[in-house]
Amino acid sequence: MAAKVHQFDAVVVGAGGAGLMAALYASRGVRTAVISKLYPTRSHTGTAQGGIGAALGNLEEDRWEWHAYDTVKGGDFLSDQNAAGVLARDAIEAVIELEHMGLPFDRTDDGRISQRRFGGHTNNETKKPVRRACHSADRTGHMILQTLYQNCIKEKVTFFDEFQVVDIIMNGNVACGVVAYEIDTGELHVFHAKAICFATGGWGRCWQTTSNAHSLTGDGPAIFLRHGLPMEDMEFYQFHPTGIYGMGILITEGVRGEGGVLLNSKGERFMERYAPTIKDLASRDVVSRSIYLEIRDGRGINGKPYVHLDVRPETVNRYLAEAGESRRIDAAYIESKLPDILDFCRTYLGVDPVKEPMPIAPTAHYAMGGIPTNIDSEVLSTPDGNVVPGMYAAGEVACVSVHGANRLGTNSLTDLVVFGRRAGMRMIEYCKNTNFTPLPDEPDGSVRREIERIRNANGKAKPHEIRAELQKVMMDNVGVFRSEEMMSEAVEKVRELKHSFETDLKIDDRGTRFNTDLLEAWELGALIDVALVTAKCALERKESRGAHSRVDFPDRDDVNYLVHSFAWLEGNDVKTDFSRKVDLSLEIAPTERVY
Ligand SMILES: Cc1cc2nc3c(=O)[nH]c(=O)nc-3n(C[C@H](O)[C@H](O)[C@H](O)COP(=O)(O)OP(=O)(O)OC[C@H]3O[C@@H](n4cnc5c(N)ncnc54)[C@H](O)[C@@H]3O)c2cc1C
Repeated sequence: MAAKVHQFDAVVVGAGGAGLMAALYASRGVRTAVISKLYPTRSHTGTAQGGIGAALGNLEEDRWEWHAYDTVKGGDFLSDQNAAGVLARDAIEAVIELEHMGLPFDRTDDGRISQRRFGGHTNNETKKPVRRACHSADRTGHMILQTLYQNCIKEKVTFFDEFQVVDIIMNGNVACGVVAYEIDTGELHVFHAKAICFATGGWGRCWQTTSNAHSLTGDGPAIFLRHGLPMEDMEFYQFHPTGIYGMGILITEGVRGEGGVLLNSKGERFMERYAPTIKDLASRDVVSRSIYLEIRDGRGINGKPYVHLDVRPETVNRYLAEAGESRRIDAAYIESKLPDILDFCRTYLGVDPVKEPMPIAPTAHYAMGGIPTNIDSEVLSTPDGNVVPGMYAAGEVACVSVHGANRLGTNSLTDLVVFGRRAGMRMIEYCKNTNFTPLPDEPDGSVRREIERIRNANGKAKPHEIRAELQKVMMDNVGVFRSEEMMSEAVEKVRELKHSFETDLKIDDRGTRFNTDLLEAWELGALIDVALVTAKCALERKESRGAHSRVDFPDRDDVNYLVHSFAWLEGNDVKTDFSRKVDLSLEIAPTERVY
């Protein structure tokens, strides 16, 4: 059956913060559609809790230059400094724009946007934490997503909800559309477009314990890899230090921003030892490693692999007094600033954080790497900066690279709005100066065959079994601490799993309507490809930097590795290239690692 064909100037894939911002901007100049496998307001952006970073300086002095510096330092100096500059500078305008669109931020007493502290954000002169995270209680992402969705509806953006994009369409090296699977009917649709923006989010589901929703399976990167397009810096995957033990559900860094502290089995505030100045608000890679070291040295709570996060008013007030601060908090304050966190803990754990500490352990959280782009969100096809005409990417799926080797909290939401907006503006310019590139013959042919292969797969390996093995090997061998041996084993294991996926898959549902069995299997294929590239890049980067911590190469190596990795999937193999130099245009020189 021939696919239905639709035509729009600009097509955005993904309806999270990045996709909606790109669509909102593009729709001001050209006919724009958004395709999303989830209903838009169910996108992961809606779960973001703590805040969006912008140097508004509403409560104390702050400057965008400090924000840019912290971003680069937090990224262990792998961030492209031109991109960090754009992020920090544009953030101020973008946040105020969100406010004007109607976003209900928390307020200061005099009516300005309220800001709180977050890991790694500092006053560069005093080195003390600075209040930079603009927030709406602990539901900041929810508010951003709702505000942007309402504004897209107002601007008459066309939405294709519950359509899963399964392929891109290229004519030579020019992008000219996407193929989507309509989840309700099982039909394929071809979207013919001049400009396409990928904003499909992250791929935390590669790991066993993750803060990420089930839908975060790396579909975008996998589709690109299968077209011979490269990924950048895939070895850098962030583990957030505070996931609920055993579940991975995120406890925002905002808890520590409000004064919460991490304690080991002896009741020691152990971050004082690892990061004496910034303590519990050190960057996430540092805190995650410190927790692992405490656990390794036998100081996990009750001998188990977790520590405590304590935000009880009496604990917070004791440490505030010790630090010479006059501020004190009470239970009502915690209830008003962290309502969702309290609710999660009471519901899922039976623990009341106002009265008891929370059991936490690191959880797979955020992809620093992804589809390589320049600061105008154009997709790169080579390490030396050639672009794929008509193709854009923004948000977590993209690697600008602004977060370098480790992202600071609140900088993802900033990234979504800043680079989503730039993608939208660029797409208008491109569409106005370009004609539609003709579609090739049978644009949906190869993906149709792949979907039919999966639908009829009758081997022995069930998708959930392959997925569980994949997630386990990635958690054990490509997690917070890594070594040559562990990663080589992971590469081999993922290759074996790829082989069983391709030759021995079994699915039960052969129907067309809402066939989640089929789509989960297709998503598993994406997870496998993304995991293989991640493990291979990690193996090839022989240093420790940011979230990539190797026991066999414990030091950062700025002589050989102040470069981005590019990786291509070639069948069962991964080709890598470490030639793209980090942009140093803000002249921020690498300083010592925290440890
Ligand atoms: C629990 C949690 C809390 C967080 N808190 C914060 C915070 O406080 N501050 C901060 O800065 N960052 C935070 N982050 C990180 C941040 O929320 C994410 O990085 C960001 O929201 C990603 O946004 P996005 O627009 O790139 O993608 P997402 O919001 O993940 O949206 C992805 C979109 O792509 C669509 N999609 C995916 N695949 C396909 C496909 N094949 N076809 C069609 N559509 C597809 C989905 O339907 C969805 O609409 C948090 C993350 C988590 C998980």
